[in-house]
Amino acid sequence: MSIQENIMALRRRIDQAARATGRTGADITLVGASKMNDAAACQEAIAAGIDVLGENRVQEMTEKLAQNAYDGAPLHFIGHLQRNKVKQVVGKVALIQSVGSVELLQEIEKVAAKLEIQQDILLEVNIGGEEAKSGFSPDALFDAAAFAGELPHIRVRGMMCIPPVEQVKDGNVPYFQKLQSLYVDINKNLYDNKLEYISMGMSGDFESAIRCGSNMIRVGTAIFGARNYTK
Ligand SMILES: *Cc1c(COP(=O)(O)O)cnc(C)c1O
Repeated sequence: MSIQENIMALRRRIDQAARATGRTGADITLVGASKMNDAAACQEAIAAGIDVLGENRVQEMTEKLAQNAYDGAPLHFIGHLQRNKVKQVVGKVALIQSVGSVELLQEIEKVAAKLEIQQDILLEVNIGGEEAKSGFSPDALFDAAAFAGELPHIRVRGMMCIPPVEQVKDGNVPYFQKLQSLYVDINKNLYDNKLEYISMGMSGDFESAIRCGSNMIRVGTAIFGARNYTK
C-alpha cells in the first residue's frame, strides 16, 4: 500500500469514528507522525492531503526542514523537548504539542519573547501517571493551564496525551475519557471555551480516541509503514 492509499483508507476510518459522535472526518485533524521517514515520504503525504506533519526529534526535524520536507503543510513538534533545544523549535513550528513542565513553559516564553512572536502550544498530560513519561500530572494540570494562560508570548490551544501502551483493545478508553473531561473543565473555567485541540490517538487506538472526543490524531505506522529502528 502506498502512502496515498494508506491516507485514503485512514480518512474513511476517521470519518466513521467521527460520525459515531455526531461529527465527520472534516472535524478531525490528521497529523502524520513522520519520524524516521525521509523528505520524499513527507512530500508524498503532503501531496496526498495530510493536514499536518509532526516530528519528535529536533535534529531530524532541522535536517528535514533544510530539505524542504514539510513545504505545503503545517509542521508540529510532538516529541519530548529538552530545554536546551527550545531555541531550535520555537518559531519553526505552528504548534508545539508536547509542553509538559513549568520549566519548559518558561523557556518557550523567553525564546518567543526574544523573537517577538506568540508560540502556539498544547499542554501534554501524563494521563497514565507513568514514571518514564513527561507531561503534567492530571492533578497539576489546572494550575499549569492557569500559569500558561498568563504568559504573553504563549498561546495555549489545547491538550495532548500519550497513554500507556495498550494491553487490550479499547484499553486506553479510560485515559482518553479522563483527558476529555479535564479538557472540557479547563476550557470552560479558564479559557472561555476558546481552546481548540484535544490531541489523542495513534495508529493503534485513534478510533477509540475519536469516540472519546479527540479532534487531532497523530498517526505514523498506519501512514508510513513500520519504522525501521535498525537503520
Ligand atoms: C510516533 C508517534 C506517534 C505515532 O505513532 P504510531 O503508533 O506509529 O501511529 C504519535 N505520537 C507521538 C508523540 C509519536 O512520537
